[in-house]
Amino acid sequence: MYAGVIVDVKSRNTDKIFTYKVPEKMNNINVGIRVAVPFRNRIVEGYVINITDNTNISDKKLKEIYKILDDFSIFDEKMLKLAWWIKEYYNCFFSESLQCIMPAGINQGCKEVKKVRLLINSIPENISDRAPRQLEILNYLLENNCIDLSDLLKNLNISYSSVKALEKKGYIEIFDEEINRYKASKFIKTEPLKPTSEQKQAINMIKDSIDSNLFNKFLLFGVTGSGKTEVYLQLIERCIELGKSSIVLVPEISLTPQTIERFIGRFGNLVAVMHSRLSQGERFDEWRKIKKGEVKVVVGVRNAIFAPFSDLGLVIIDEEHEGTYKQSDLRPKYNVKEVAEKRCEIENAVLVLGSATPSIESYYKAIKSEYKLIKLSERIGIFLPEVDVINMSDELSSGNNSIFSRRLYNEIKLNLCRGEQTILFLNRRGFSSFVSCRNCGYVPKCPNCDISLTFHAYEKKLRCHYCGYSINMFEYCPKCKSNRIRHLGIGTERIENDVKKYFPESRILRMDIDTTKTKGSHERIFYDFKNGKADILIGTQMISKGFDIPNVTLVGVILADVTLNIPDFRSGEKTFQLLTQVAGRAGRGEKAGRVIIQTYEDNNYSIKAAKLQNYLMFYNEEIQYREIFKYPPFTHLMNIVIYGKEKQKVVENAAKIYYVVKNTINKFEVKSYNKVLGPSSAPLEKIKNNYRWQIIIKNEDRNNLLKIADVVDLIKYDNDIKIAMDIDPINM
Ligand code: ADP
Ligand code: ZN
Ligand code: ZN
Repeated sequence: MYAGVIVDVKSRNTDKIFTYKVPEKMNNINVGIRVAVPFRNRIVEGYVINITDNTNISDKKLKEIYKILDDFSIFDEKMLKLAWWIKEYYNCFFSESLQCIMPAGINQGCKEVKKVRLLINSIPENISDRAPRQLEILNYLLENNCIDLSDLLKNLNISYSSVKALEKKGYIEIFDEEINRYKASKFIKTEPLKPTSEQKQAINMIKDSIDSNLFNKFLLFGVTGSGKTEVYLQLIERCIELGKSSIVLVPEISLTPQTIERFIGRFGNLVAVMHSRLSQGERFDEWRKIKKGEVKVVVGVRNAIFAPFSDLGLVIIDEEHEGTYKQSDLRPKYNVKEVAEKRCEIENAVLVLGSATPSIESYYKAIKSEYKLIKLSERIGIFLPEVDVINMSDELSSGNNSIFSRRLYNEIKLNLCRGEQTILFLNRRGFSSFVSCRNCGYVPKCPNCDISLTFHAYEKKLRCHYCGYSINMFEYCPKCKSNRIRHLGIGTERIENDVKKYFPESRILRMDIDTTKTKGSHERIFYDFKNGKADILIGTQMISKGFDIPNVTLVGVILADVTLNIPDFRSGEKTFQLLTQVAGRAGRGEKAGRVIIQTYEDNNYSIKAAKLQNYLMFYNEEIQYREIFKYPPFTHLMNIVIYGKEKQKVVENAAKIYYVVKNTINKFEVKSYNKVLGPSSAPLEKIKNNYRWQIIIKNEDRNNLLKIADVVDLIKYDNDIKIAMDIDPINM
């Protein structure tokens, strides 16, 4: 027998199938098995992707597989198909796409504990008096039947030798048992709710596809609190009835204990969880549970899409607009929405994307009938909060230069008096290096790209990070001539200090990257706040979802402009989504909520639409701007980042790539819209001592971007220069 093996050596010329001989004794070899193989004088890891009984390569040239690494296969033919697609679609090595499918913690293997079990029904006569210790053990086991060896030794305070002696006599058995390191917390069982008529319609539409094994895609556009989760739960229930499995994806930050509880509460131990807060061992054990068919549902983050179910019926992606569904840091830079779509297509399963603020791309697909659109527009049990927008320029001109508008100050005071809780939100995502006029709200933007220009203090210039356009920083606002033009930047610590200063009587909690570094700190802050141990919670986007706390009646957004002006063509979309999510945190209980958004740009459509909580109003504006400036969904983008220690070399190599890219495009036979922007410094020009420059390519046809990526891959670069390419990037 021969095996086709993909070796884990990441380079272009090893990215192919190598044939190995299978030694006689390895008759348990199979597709999807991990092996060790000799490769160029060393032993490397590899993955078996096919088995045949003949080959046209001469036997003498072939090496033998050295070892099988696991006693189970990791992927089946269907997963292999998916991995192949990922490789092609995201332009990565096959070993990289296969590694997406590998379970975390696989090298740790399973954990086993020693157990002791009684093999007899009553105490044998001959043991009684002569061995009191042994008698004690047998009596104990008669009561407890089967227990951990360590517990037995500890509870009876006995030595291992007396247990061993009993085993020799054949009275008891000591054996290994595989255990699951993940211990789910206790849960309260919930019953299905009687669906509202809207929910019923949604459920029925999707159920039809599930029942008839039809690959279908749905966009469930439901306002916050419209009961999307109950829809998910009832669809999963249907799948379980039919013997099918379901995958539920949620963004990392919203995978709170509350979210997990809702699924475990309904389906109990049929649920496995997969996220990064589990240890490697716990993750592996959960994966094994899925593999063995012990569970029917997995709730997890991005990589849970690779859960090894063999009978997939349904994939749900909640909060589908979230940027974390794209793997941006590692290769392959996949978007799990696309991977899920492909997996559902391969396995005839149903895909449901859910959101209160769908991504522009998804909603556009729904309008073009690529997704079936289902709307839930009624809220169940919670009220629409009252949203107010405060213009901070007005505050300033009337003499208030604190970070709190008078309105927000008064509302916080009022909440403190009434014993109700407040969330203060700072969307500190990324950068604060844009400049704005604090008198009229004007923000300088690039005339070509329409993104905010970034202030570079050392050269006193404003630059566009997409195309490189730059102008000198001005002293007076070009619009209103005021000299109050400056760059804005506040951190959560500054807010905490100001809250202490203005509200010395309040108890404060802060949730941001700094306060949530240790395991469990996120949960602790959440429960402390939920249990009323603080009056005010200050936080970043971490607190924008999953926080359903009835006593929170006020949410203050300190400065909406921060997100609005990140140098990213999606800044408007991100702002609208964030504000809507945050607003959803107010008034989850009996009492109505108030939301106060502070901004210098109260005329911006993202903010206006957020005030009215009107998604369609936002969408209709945004889609026009995307079309005019040729951004997705009207084009595909590719971002090429060139980085290295020496700035000069980075710039030179970037210029070289630019030239090659331009040349490649000129040779394309079919001309589609295309534009090559840059090279320009990346928004964060220096990370970990690396200078970073970028080239952005826009093209109507994604295949052209793949062709360009192929060419760029072949360029010879200077030694310490590295290249990272991202097709359809999310954060840029
Ligand atoms: P979403 O996921 O759309 O934000 P949720 O699923 O959290 O909405 O639902 C909001 C609230 O309404 C929850 O407290 C939920 O238990 C409740 N709810 C959902 N569906 C029903 C129903 N059919 N009957 C009664 N209450 C419901
Ligand atoms: Zn101005
Ligand atoms: Zn530009």
